[in-house]
Amino acid sequence: MHAFTYTATKTLAATLDALRTARPGTKILAGGTTLYDLMKLDIETPPAVIDVHRLAELNTIEVGEDELVFGSGARMADVADHPAIRTDYPGLSESLWRAASQQLRTMATVGGNLLQRTRCAYFRNGSEFPCNKREPGSGCAAIGGHDRGHALLGGSGSCVATYAGDFAIALIAFDAVVDVAGPRGERSLPLAELHVEPGDDPAREHVLEPDELIVRIRVPATPAGRGSTYLKIRDRESYAFALASAAVGLTFDADGFVDECRIGLGGVATRPWRATEAEQALLGRRLTPEATRHAGEVAFAGARPGAANGFRVELGIRTVADALRTAGERAVR
Ligand code: SF4
Repeated sequence: MHAFTYTATKTLAATLDALRTARPGTKILAGGTTLYDLMKLDIETPPAVIDVHRLAELNTIEVGEDELVFGSGARMADVADHPAIRTDYPGLSESLWRAASQQLRTMATVGGNLLQRTRCAYFRNGSEFPCNKREPGSGCAAIGGHDRGHALLGGSGSCVATYAGDFAIALIAFDAVVDVAGPRGERSLPLAELHVEPGDDPAREHVLEPDELIVRIRVPATPAGRGSTYLKIRDRESYAFALASAAVGLTFDADGFVDECRIGLGGVATRPWRATEAEQALLGRRLTPEATRHAGEVAFAGARPGAANGFRVELGIRTVADALRTAGERAVR
């Protein structure tokens, strides 16, 4: 591990002051559950970190009539266990419960969780394999290599690493917005615009500037929250990343036809993925097994499997169909 300077701030204003004069490469430290791992592996080598995990003003959870507002420093476990979120937005709660382990959820923040880096083994396992994300221009060992866990949707000839998070999948389905602060002021952007495709520069994973941090996440209130779920399929039922996941929210009209449909896909794409065409395919239809299967097929119509990950196309289709069935049951309770 490289030596680094550690600074802990107590207010957002002090954090922004510290960022204003920070050395290039300085990183924000929140729960530390990802950054410290990557520093131990020498994948991240910041000269300094600014620890924000004690900022009480970022550790907030508000459930309003018009929106949910999560401070970026709220702990994953606290958001997952909030009574109103469990009742009115079970899909959001489940996306947090099914992430990581209880120890990690207790420490990790929702803001940090959004910005976690890929679990591509070639990226994390040192310099013996080429990796454009770790060392730009070196190549991609996963393309033509062991790609069982790599992306089916999105990607480029430079990188096919899967976005590993769960919470962002539920957030993208619910049109969440992130508020970001930096020395030049505050701005807001849809969560759907936070992460970027790898393109020719896989090292760049999101649109935040190095001196910006997420201060809060806002989710517009919707009746589809009650009819929601997050289904995560993985190699083992605890502490594993998704082979395929789906965040789904539904409402029905008075005649039992789908009135509102939201589908986010996880574990299968290079960034949080909204399956808008699959949503459209269900609107105005009854939620029959044929219709849910069809929505899954539409969601994966653009999949581009590699050598060893093709089985996850059918897995993803079934994941979407099963999640829709569960969400439909909840929507009519
Ligand atoms: Fe690196 Fe991306 Fe290729 Fe993995 S998929 S080896 S992260 S460039």
